[in-house]
Amino acid sequence: MLKAYQYRLYPSNVQERKLEATRETCRRWYNDLLSERKTAYEERGATIGKYAQLRRVKDHKAASPWAKVVHSHVLQVVVSDLDTAFQAFFRRLKAGQTPGYPRLRVFHRFDSFGFKEYGNGFKLDGRRLRVTGIGRIAVRWHRQIEGRIKTLRLIKKAGKWFASFAVEYEPTALPATGKDVGVDVGIASLLTTSDGDKTPTQGWYRNEQAKLRVLQRRVARRTKGGKNRRKAVALLQRQHERIENRRKDFLNKQAHTLIAQYDRIAVEDLKITNMVQNRHLAKSIMDAGWGYFVARLHAKAEEAGRVVVEVNPAYTSKDCSRCGYRFEDLTLKDRWIDCPRCGLSLDRDHNAARNILKRGGQLRWGISSSVDGLLQEAAGL
Ligand SMILES: [Zn+2]
Repeated sequence: MLKAYQYRLYPSNVQERKLEATRETCRRWYNDLLSERKTAYEERGATIGKYAQLRRVKDHKAASPWAKVVHSHVLQVVVSDLDTAFQAFFRRLKAGQTPGYPRLRVFHRFDSFGFKEYGNGFKLDGRRLRVTGIGRIAVRWHRQIEGRIKTLRLIKKAGKWFASFAVEYEPTALPATGKDVGVDVGIASLLTTSDGDKTPTQGWYRNEQAKLRVLQRRVARRTKGGKNRRKAVALLQRQHERIENRRKDFLNKQAHTLIAQYDRIAVEDLKITNMVQNRHLAKSIMDAGWGYFVARLHAKAEEAGRVVVEVNPAYTSKDCSRCGYRFEDLTLKDRWIDCPRCGLSLDRDHNAARNILKRGGQLRWGISSSVDGLLQEAAGL
């Protein structure tokens, strides 16, 4: 299996200039290749494919002093990138959609270039990343790479450079725990499990939001087009990123904890409910994080041999999880339920989580879609 790891790079000024020069060379090469395909099609009705263009790399290096200093794999990856854009275009055309023809890339719309083989153009060198034509670049290794590095892509995002590695690894199934769980996303606490464990709404989130508002006001007060406004906008962007990173980090840990503890996990299907609006979550972490959280759950489940199902969330908070009695007039303020039929007395979110677990069971824990794909692959379907 392949997994992506991304790290922030800290190039020196010289290295940064070389990164930019390579990016620009690749952008022009990309536009050249695109024009070539377009002209051939418009003038002669001919199709120029990936392999014909790959054969041009050598001549291009000989003809251009800029391309000469760029590793040939980098130029080849540009050919593949363009081909991918065309494949997507033709796929959508075939599906009866009206996609836009692949477009020439202006400077800010071309943000990355890649290497396709570890040890050929790039390799790790101590704590640094050695890239042919660029140098030994400082990296912030915020987590360890597990597996064998296959490819590298250098990406520029919001003025910063990142290295993205595709890594091949052997997934290791976690030992079975014999336990299943339902997870409710709540109002008072972020997550509640059918075992009654609660993850409180995070204090840091509110603090970071407060800082965000201060920075937003600062931007609003500065004169448009001024230098101070640009500075304030940069600070604001950094704060947005900071919140995003902390949120992702936090949700990753939550997903990891669940996967480690349970064999099968049932969560609400956000595609069915409009949970965010329905449940007054605007101020909480999940308003922007639920999709990410569920995606991480699926990805981790696939690695660990676990099952994740998404269930219809209708009435999960309104039905008694023991006897099915429906509390028709339950309001958001009611934090506790007392069932008049069977006597169940339970925290509202805990009750909802138990209903979600039950629904997971009713689905017979239909294999989660990603695992389904793997099994079909294994069966040669
Ligand atoms: Zn009941």
